[in-house]
Amino acid sequence: MPRPYLLLIIGLISTSFMLSATAQGGKADAVVEIGPMESGDWKVSYEFAEPQSALAFARSRNDYRSATWTLETEGARFGRAFDFDVIIFDEPAKAVDFSIIPLTSAIEADYTPFVTFSDGGLAIYEGQFSLIPFEDLDAIEALEGDLDNAETGPLAMDVKLTSDKPIIVDGDVHDGALTHRIRGDGTYIYMGDSETQTFDSFAVVLDQGLPDWLQARFDSDLETIFNQLEGLWGFELKDKATILLAYKGTGGQGFSATGGALDNLLMMEVGGSEFSKANFNALSYLQWFFAHEAVHLFQTTGGAEFAGDSDAWIHEGAANTMAYSFVAAQLEGEDREKFLAGVYANAFKECAAALEGGPLKDAAKRDSFSANYSCGDLIAQATDGFLKRKTLYEFWNRLLQNAVSLDQPQVNESLYFTTMQLFGATRANRNKIRVIVEEELDDPAEALADMLESAGLEPEFDGKGNLVKMNWPVYAAE
Ligand SMILES: [Zn+2]
Repeated sequence: MPRPYLLLIIGLISTSFMLSATAQGGKADAVVEIGPMESGDWKVSYEFAEPQSALAFARSRNDYRSATWTLETEGARFGRAFDFDVIIFDEPAKAVDFSIIPLTSAIEADYTPFVTFSDGGLAIYEGQFSLIPFEDLDAIEALEGDLDNAETGPLAMDVKLTSDKPIIVDGDVHDGALTHRIRGDGTYIYMGDSETQTFDSFAVVLDQGLPDWLQARFDSDLETIFNQLEGLWGFELKDKATILLAYKGTGGQGFSATGGALDNLLMMEVGGSEFSKANFNALSYLQWFFAHEAVHLFQTTGGAEFAGDSDAWIHEGAANTMAYSFVAAQLEGEDREKFLAGVYANAFKECAAALEGGPLKDAAKRDSFSANYSCGDLIAQATDGFLKRKTLYEFWNRLLQNAVSLDQPQVNESLYFTTMQLFGATRANRNKIRVIVEEELDDPAEALADMLESAGLEPEFDGKGNLVKMNWPVYAAE
């Protein structure tokens, strides 16, 4: 039986900063040199162009650094304060050094700092080094734990490292030494013996330790995903995506998978006993993950941005519909029906349960972020049903077109409903969606069923109220 695929994914909330002028290129405000020491720990040495008084780590959601980073500079203090990892200097200073234990386990609410590959490769998340300058500790306290309150963005920072193995970043291979500017949330820098394989729309670095059955098909699966999506969206991605797949071996029951997307980089760590031989669950999970993340690359084409958490149902939902539809399109007959019935029975159940607690737009606040996937998915399918002679892909193309014409090119709720209207959805139809997003409902399951029914999706339920069948769209490009 297909099982719910959503549970293992970590929701990564992207922290976006306005890039300062210097961050666009030019001279760095800071250089961080990193590299392994004989002990296996890593040395992390910062040098600043200007003397610094107080610094906060831009990515401080998780406080793993207090256990893994040791300050090695006199006249400075390092620790956790006001929800940030901070460095405070007794006198303004131009350098600070740390010795760190590279953390290789997945952490909550952020990217794995160091990802190990079973073939000896290593991928380093550069965003972990990013620093924001402040006057003093009071200025960090004044943030009230929220970087949106910061007046300046992170220092324009170059990461420097040397390696006797090839270094791959942004799809390019560097021999021996690398200097790389951190942009936005940063990316992963890979060091190891895996070669990049380059295709039309993406470059991929596969763990050489992947089981043969997966190694044999993964490139062509990715090609199918990107070809299908390009056909359905009607355009090609301007920037190539980079895909890193790290394998953790067959230890552990079932399968585990965590991953995330950073601009054009899709990274995933997989492992577990189910990978030991060809396995439908593991494979369809991987296909779902990469298709879902690849859809996000299309959804942000031309400079369009996602709005905040309360609007996450828009992009997460559509990405999910498109990704499940992709997996389903690879299957035939009964297998396809079984797969869709499994995932959507689950989506319906999860969404209805999440809406018991309040409207969808507040799901993230209630720690029910995954409702953005499940409810958003059902909404995306309903949207498709409400459109007159248009598909969800045409709708999204128009949504992007409308978004990028705005000063703040965000795909948000009001733009969503306006675009539905432009494509012929009636006010009554839009309201079926609006109540789910905005209102506290007495009977969420009934409202959902009503939305699906009105959209012509003909949902069928068993005696216990489980969704068992629906007219789900399966899209395939020519
Ligand atoms: Zn997503």
